[in-house]
Order: sequence, then C-alpha cells, then structure tokens
Amino acid sequence: MPSIIVLDTLSRDGLALLDAAAASGITYEVRTGLSGAALREALAAHDGAICRSGVKVTADALAGNQRLRAIVRAGVGTDNIDKEAATRQGIVVMNTPAGNTISTAEHTFALILALSRNVAAADASLRGHAWDRNRFMGVQLAGKTLGIVGLGRIGQAVARRAAAFEMKVVGYDPFLTPERAAELGIELVDTVRGMLPMVDYLTVHTPLTDETRHLVGMDALPLLKRGVRLVNCARGGIYDEAALVEGLRQGIIGGVALDVFEKEPCTDSPLFGMPGVLVTPHLGASTEEAQSQVAVEGVGLLVDYLTSGTIRHSVNAAAIDAAQLEGVRGFVDLAWRLGLLLSQIDAPAPRSCSIAYRGEIAGRNTRLVTSAFAAGLLESAIEDVNIVNAEMLLRERGIDLVEQSRSDPGAFSSVVAVDLVSGNRVHRAAGTLFGHSMPRLVQLEGHRLEAYLDGILLVFTHQDVPGIIGRVGTIFGGLGVNIAQMTVGRAAPGGDAIGVLNLDSAPSAEALAAVAECPGIKSARVVTLPPAGRLPGWLVGAGNAQPRK
Ligand code: NAD
Repeated sequence: MPSIIVLDTLSRDGLALLDAAAASGITYEVRTGLSGAALREALAAHDGAICRSGVKVTADALAGNQRLRAIVRAGVGTDNIDKEAATRQGIVVMNTPAGNTISTAEHTFALILALSRNVAAADASLRGHAWDRNRFMGVQLAGKTLGIVGLGRIGQAVARRAAAFEMKVVGYDPFLTPERAAELGIELVDTVRGMLPMVDYLTVHTPLTDETRHLVGMDALPLLKRGVRLVNCARGGIYDEAALVEGLRQGIIGGVALDVFEKEPCTDSPLFGMPGVLVTPHLGASTEEAQSQVAVEGVGLLVDYLTSGTIRHSVNAAAIDAAQLEGVRGFVDLAWRLGLLLSQIDAPAPRSCSIAYRGEIAGRNTRLVTSAFAAGLLESAIEDVNIVNAEMLLRERGIDLVEQSRSDPGAFSSVVAVDLVSGNRVHRAAGTLFGHSMPRLVQLEGHRLEAYLDGILLVFTHQDVPGIIGRVGTIFGGLGVNIAQMTVGRAAPGGDAIGVLNLDSAPSAEALAAVAECPGIKSARVVTLPPAGRLPGWLVGAGNAQPRK
C-alpha cells in the first residue's frame, strides 16, 4: 500500500484530498521540520513525499533510499530539492507551476493600482491625522500603455486583466507567436529597449537569467518615458535597484512597486525612503487560494503517479527508460546543443520547428532526441524545462514541433538537422556525432562547415571575399581573444558565407563591435554553449536508476 509523507505545512484542502486518497489504498503522515538523519529515515519509509520550500531534500537526505518514487513540490521553485540526486535514484520530482498564476497576476494589478492612486502614502498620511487631498493626485489606467516583458502564464494573465482596465498592451517574449499575441490583444515588439519609450507602465514576468538580469539598468534610463511606473512581481534583480533609485531621483521614473528584491529577505533599501515607492515582501503567491491550489494540485500529481504511474510537470528526467536512452545518449546531447544554438540566433519568436534524422539515427527511437532539442531551445527562457516537459511547453506557446526521418545515408553516418521558422525565415542547423559523444556542427543557415558544438562560438555572416578571416583574426589577436578553431561555409565562391570561430574566451563588446564593423561582414554574434562533455542537468544520472516497484 503506497504511503506519503507530508514534509511542510500543507493547506487544509490538500490534506482533505490525502484523506480521500485512503479510498485508493494510500496512507499518509505529516512530519514537518525534519532534517538530517530523521529526514533520511522518514523519506526511506515512504513511496511519495510532498513539500513546500521549507524542508531541504539534499543528496544526503536521499542517500541509500530504496523506496521513495516521487517528490512533489507544492509550488514552483524546486531549489530545495537536489534534483540530480533524485534523478540518479530514479525518483521523479514534480511541481505545480500554474497554481500561483492568478494570485501573482492579481498582485501585479494591486501594485499597479496602488501606485497610480498613491494608496499606501495616502493611507499613511491619513493615519497621521492629515486630511491632505492635494498631495495624492493620481492617474487612471484607461488609455495608458502597459509594457509586459515575459508573456508566459503570469504575463498573459496580466495582459487579460489590463484589457479589462482598457489599457493598451505591448509585449515582448522570445517564444510568443504573433498569432497567440493577437488573440490576447497584445502588440508584440521586437526588443525590450524598443518598448521602453512608449510605455506608461512596465511589468516583468520572466525568470531571472543572464538576459533578464538588470533588464532596466542605468543605460535604460534615458530611454524610459518620463513618469513611467515600474512593477516587478517576478524575480529580484530584473531591475537594477540602484538604477531605480537614480531614475526616481532624476524624476524619470514616476513610481516603483517591488514584490521581489535582489537579496531576500530585504528589510532595508535606499528605495524604502523614497516617494513613489511601494514594496511588499514577496507576497505574489501568498493567497489562501494559491496555497490551496498548489496543495491540491500537488497531492493530485503524487496520488496519480503512485496509483497509475502518470507523470505531469516533472522537473527531472528520472522516469526515462534506461534502454531507450542508452541507444541515443550522444544524440540527446547533440540535439540539446542544437536547440541551445538556435535559441541564440537573433530572430523573432519561432512559429514552428522541425527536426530531421538522416542515416543510421533514423532507425532508432528518436523521441528523447526530439524532446532534448525542444529543451535546449527553451532552456534560457523557461525555468525547469527538461526532456520530459519541453515539447508540452512548446505546444502551450503555439509552436509546432515536427519530426522527420530518412534512413539513406548522407555525408555522415547520422545527421540531425533542425529548422526554426521565425518571422519569414527558416533558420537551420545540422550536427553529427564524431565517435559516440563528440557533437559537431556540420551545417548552419544552409552552409556546410565543421565546428565544435561547445564553448564560445563567434558566428558571423559575410561576403566571400579575400581577407575577411584575416581581418577578424587580426582584431581578435590585438584584443587578446584566442581562436581555437575556425571554419567557413559558403554557397558559392564570392557569394554569401558564414564563419564560425571556436574561441577560448568571450570577446569583449569592443572586439565584437570591431568585427561587426569590418567591411564585408554583415552580422556577428556570440553563441555560448556548455563546455564539451557537460551534460544538461536533467540528463545527469538519468537512465541509471533501478526501476522502483
Ligand atoms: P512562465 O515560464 O510561464 O513564463 C515566463 C516567460 O518569460 C516565458 O514565456 C519566457 O519565454 C519569457 N522570457 C524568458 N526570457 C525572456 C526575456 N529575456 N525577455 C522576455 N521574455 C522572456 O513563468 P510564470 O509562471 O509566468 O512566472 C514568471 C515569473 O514570476 C517567474 O520568474 C516566477 O518565478 C515568478 N513568480 C513570482 C511569484 C511571486 O511570489 N512574486 C509567484 C509566482 C511566480
């Protein structure tokens, strides 16, 4: 009879569902506040565990565990669970990513409204016995433009609410198709910077990544519309707090509302003493409904898995069949890298993508390889994406992924070719494996070449005229950037060509600008891939576990 351990306080509705699961033969016990040996022993005595963010399920807590089959996080963040250790032991980790959506979208609007009508400051003033109606002149939302960066679950929920307030919505998301944006009444822009001069309100709903960190920093201040109000209910650090202070001080920014901070808990900040600032202590998901919903969803996931083996919202790849993975492990790595590569080309949101297998690989089960490509494509934009959930996340964004196979051999014994339809262009990359595990890029944007698929790449398009490679080499040599390998592909002598350099270090902005300005060079961009041999986190240990009964 399966048994469940509840490791953090769970809402009443979640516990009621566990009571009801007794009918399916499931028992449970609640043991909160566990750590060390007590946690290890408790985990070893159950088939499933459900937690929030309190307990730390470390590798040590899972060591030697022969019984546990699944851990569910009632909520989103799974940082408190060692997912690699769980994967190695065949333990599925799942979360409930949608349970917080409405509460966080509503909190965003609570902050937008409170900022616009000076609710907090007026409240404090009146409690101080001042009846001051002149100081708190507000603005209305109708007719204003709201900019939304990140149009996933929460960003879209915010957009729907903005429509009800008669706001105009402009948005940016690298993975929202124009069709889906039009359905939501959102005008898509090509870049965040392009959006800044036109918005009266800006709200961000992205993960914190290299790209989104300090999305609004000192350099963005001159671009902002004067008086803009900025809201962050996503992750601290997307706005540079020092730039917010400066923008408010200079009168460029009219208001700032933050639910999240660069360092949390945050109990002191230069922003706290400034007018036009509204702050809450990470309350986006703190509603009775959200807590109840994540608990109910979490218990549902766990009971479904323990009774029928159904996996939804898995954030690791523990359930992958070892035999199926073994035959394609190298190609899983290759396809993941091709996805990462295509995610870094400068292109609007993809409408569709395809993956084609040619040669010997076409005769194998390529389902995992296709999913690995989708995971690579989405990895920089979506938290917890992996080989199990990536295809679903693509579909949710209206992006089709089709798979094709042909077994006749081409120039290599096996080739994986990926296409991304974006705007009115098709971007293509193809790769192969040298040996069993050395991924190589053999085609890019229709040009044959041969480059390592790891580390730092400079990809530049140019006219095939004498001297280009020498000029790039001279610029990089002068600025201390060592070129490990170079390759060029061209359509025909003198025609369009593409160059790929494998670099030992990332070129500075100065070096990149100098290359881009070289006569004959049309575009230049850096693509960063994991070092050779580094597998995606979700693959480490996958397929190694003994199946659990
Ligand atoms: P989601 O994965 O559904 O959506 C995130 C979206 O951001 C994706 O569509 C992705 O394509 C987009 N994105 C990624 N990089 C981008 C970039 N550089 N520019 C523009 N868009 C980009 O996630 P979600 O559930 O909507 O959550 C959004 C954020 O809110 C997450 O960071 C989450 O951790 C946070 N969150 C905060 C609270 C809170 O308590 N304040 C509660 C829930 C979620």
